[in-house]
Amino acid sequence: MSILPPLIALLSPVKRSHRVGVRLAGYVLLFALTISLVLTGFQLWQARQQEAQRIAQLLDQQAASAEQHLADVVWEDDQRHAKQIGQSMVRLSDLSYVMVRSHDSVLAEVGSLTPNMVTRARPLSLRHGEKTAAQFGDFVLGVDMAPIEARLRASAIGIFLRTTLLIGLTVGFILLLFQFMVTRHLSRISEFFTALTPQTLAQPLRLDRSPPSPNGGDEFDDLVKGVNHMQATLASDIARREQAEAEVRQLNEALEKRVAERTHELLEKNRQLAQLAITDSLTGLYNRLKLDQVLDDELKRSRRYGSGFALILLDIDHFKAVNDSSGHAVGDQVLVDMGRLLTQGTRNVDVVGRWGGEEFLVICCDTELTGAVALAEKLRQAIEGHAFPVVGHKTASFGVSAIRSGDAIPVVMARADSALYRSKSSGRNRVEINA
Ligand code: GH3
Ligand code: MG
Ligand code: MG
Repeated sequence: MSILPPLIALLSPVKRSHRVGVRLAGYVLLFALTISLVLTGFQLWQARQQEAQRIAQLLDQQAASAEQHLADVVWEDDQRHAKQIGQSMVRLSDLSYVMVRSHDSVLAEVGSLTPNMVTRARPLSLRHGEKTAAQFGDFVLGVDMAPIEARLRASAIGIFLRTTLLIGLTVGFILLLFQFMVTRHLSRISEFFTALTPQTLAQPLRLDRSPPSPNGGDEFDDLVKGVNHMQATLASDIARREQAEAEVRQLNEALEKRVAERTHELLEKNRQLAQLAITDSLTGLYNRLKLDQVLDDELKRSRRYGSGFALILLDIDHFKAVNDSSGHAVGDQVLVDMGRLLTQGTRNVDVVGRWGGEEFLVICCDTELTGAVALAEKLRQAIEGHAFPVVGHKTASFGVSAIRSGDAIPVVMARADSALYRSKSSGRNRVEINA
């Protein structure tokens, strides 16, 4: 049979869920009770040995001292005297049984023989010098061990109870001491770690005890020192990390600001570039590229919605003479002024651009031929009536055409161009139509 199950059953009250102090007390108590039981058992065994020895001595002494006396009364066959001797022996000592016998007949018997008895039997015989003659009787002495055993048991129970009480008090004291020296500090350390947050890192661990001596402290002082060192390291690490994070945040913000500024600049530049790409640098009007795009868009729109548009192509008369007589710069200024006159003389929906050299194109959106002719005439008069710096009055010749269904852009442009050619050949400063 295994010894393990009963041992586990014995230790089962000491569970892991109990506090350390309680468990320690439990183990110490179990151990001490076991020792106490063993010690009590040993003491009981020792006391029994001593008692047995004492009883043996007592029997020998009593037998020795009564032998002569009993020999006399048995020899005289004095039954009454024999009984008296037996009674006094039982009364005056621990003897509980005396039996005197002559040959085979019992002369006197005091008490009764029980199985629990230790006995001594001695022969009664005549002596001649050193020689022993024939035996004429014998006697038996007995001591009842039952009351002695009962007394020993009672004293053992007393010893056990006293020892247990002593152990109980000792364990209680150890428990109190353990609570004071260890458990309360462990609880404090446990609370400290449970409540630990980045905010409480600045508060060091402190136990409710006097500070260690300069020569060093005990295990708890070492532990507190270690924990506080770890906490300080952690706090400085966190502070360093927070500082690094703040720096990274600042850098990020600066970078984002920089990127936003750069993006804005880039967008502005792109816008300017896009504007430049479609602008004639001298006059600020749309250039040929933009005019081509507008023409394409207008063609698509007219094809989809059936809305028409018309073109006015104009060319400054005898412009070469301006350059030749007044210089290129003056010629440039005439071109700029011409652009402004055209812009001022048209609606917002009309698109004005420089077609090339001293030629300009007005795209009249959503406009019939008649409207475009009227506008061309209005522009012609405005130019004719304007006094340009240095060169005075200048004129321009106009060719007007309108989109027809099925027309491609080059076709309608060619018609405007041929009208312009006709205007030139018919004497200039005129509006000619090629519908
Ligand atoms: P016409 O009446 O037949 O049109 O005669 P014109 O002299 O105006 O025509 P021509 O084609 O002989 O000359 C056009 C001139 O325009 C030649 C060229 O030097 C000048 N020109 C073209 N572009 C510019 C420019 O951007 N600036 C200046 N100053 N002159 C330009
Ligand atoms: Mg020309
Ligand atoms: Mg010209």
